[in-house]
Amino acid sequence: MTQQMPRIVAKFGGSNLKSAADLHHIGDIIEAYQQPIVIVVSAFFGVTNFLQEMLWKCRTDEQTILAGADFLKNMKQELVNSVISDPILRAEAFEKIDFRLRQMTRYLLGVHYMGDAPSFAEDTVLSYGEQFSAAILSGLLKSRGLEAEELLPDTLGLITDGEFGNATVDFSASCQLVRKALSKHSFAVIPGFYGISPAGKINLFGRGGSDYSAAALARIIQAESLDVWKDVNGFMSADPKLVRNVRQIPEISYTEAAELAYFGAKILHPRTMEPLLDDSIPIRIFDSRKFRGSLKAASIVHEKREIHSTIIKSVTYSDDFGVLQLAGPGVGIKPGILAMLTRELDRRGINIKSVITAQTSINILLSLNDLELAADLTRRAAPELVKNITVQDDVALIAVVGEGILETPGLAAKVFGAVYEKRINVQIISMGASPVAAYFLVDQKDRTEAVRAIHHSFINNGVERV
Ligand code: ASP
Ligand code: MG
Repeated sequence: MTQQMPRIVAKFGGSNLKSAADLHHIGDIIEAYQQPIVIVVSAFFGVTNFLQEMLWKCRTDEQTILAGADFLKNMKQELVNSVISDPILRAEAFEKIDFRLRQMTRYLLGVHYMGDAPSFAEDTVLSYGEQFSAAILSGLLKSRGLEAEELLPDTLGLITDGEFGNATVDFSASCQLVRKALSKHSFAVIPGFYGISPAGKINLFGRGGSDYSAAALARIIQAESLDVWKDVNGFMSADPKLVRNVRQIPEISYTEAAELAYFGAKILHPRTMEPLLDDSIPIRIFDSRKFRGSLKAASIVHEKREIHSTIIKSVTYSDDFGVLQLAGPGVGIKPGILAMLTRELDRRGINIKSVITAQTSINILLSLNDLELAADLTRRAAPELVKNITVQDDVALIAVVGEGILETPGLAAKVFGAVYEKRINVQIISMGASPVAAYFLVDQKDRTEAVRAIHHSFINNGVERV
């Protein structure tokens, strides 16, 4: 039967998937929509990490494969038993999960015999976490009498550009197929995190990539909104674990959200905004802990750009930044050095997070995991520069984000004034690369105090609220 095309995509992340009670809660939320929706699910909390660990250990230890598969089987069986009441639907879910566990086991055995995981095997194994969730949630919805169906990305036709580990959706290849498949079901349940390469292989969208899956589907159906369900209170003026008196941000622009995500706020994957910008599809962030029957968003991300009275809407930080520095007379202006560096790093798939140059130094900001390898590659590519290469891994990056940051006179002075008052030394500063964000590096040990000082000075206006 052909249904009406759903108008909303709702995504449920791993933080909402910790127990059988969470699954029931998600069932209640889906029913509260009272209209057809497309549902995207992540893996259960911790499962992707568990699969990653198995992939690593199974290279040398065959035992981990059976033990791991058993562990997952028991966990999933328990969930199926407690959330799917209908015996036929329960058997159907068991069968799907068993089949996928057997496939997963075969891939892992392959990895064991080869002693290494080729990228297609890695992407396939890591995708099972989402595939288990989708099998269970679709069973639960059906057993509640909803017209639900699990649709895997291959049935759906969610086609990628073919890049393993960090794929992008090919919209022109996917659009028609996906629209057709989605128009047939009131509640399609789709595992997030991956699509299918033109050659038919599983391609991941990168860690945390279910947000991107959901955004891509929202664009394909031209949704009224992408609803992201989390267990936090939407976007906040700072991490509430670090700062007291944080404020919720009810509305935020795409650019602000993208910068916050990029600089460490873990609320959305930085690529979530990408598919939505052209069609101005808003993202509504919901706090599942607060759901009591009605759908009230904690934050809305949209194209409207508004300058707040505090200018800075949020101060965020990331510990996952390190600096690779090349110092020496003239390195910053010598032609070719930067090109050589970026080429070498790109060849090894190392993502450069930011570059800041001066006449006498080039500073490349990288993820901590990439730092040593990047330094090694640079030493090998430019032996004449070896004595000038240093690595700094004990830094933290602090970013302030808000529309109007660049245009506001005295803003930088106020930010650094607040930090200076605490006698914190500021290292590299970058302003102007983004119209809505500025960032700087401090010693790791000063990170929390710097965040607090800025938040206190801007958001609380120097006044503690009670
Ligand atoms: N399960 C995947 C991860 O942990 C994708 C996601 O949750 O968005 O990275
Ligand atoms: Mg996530």
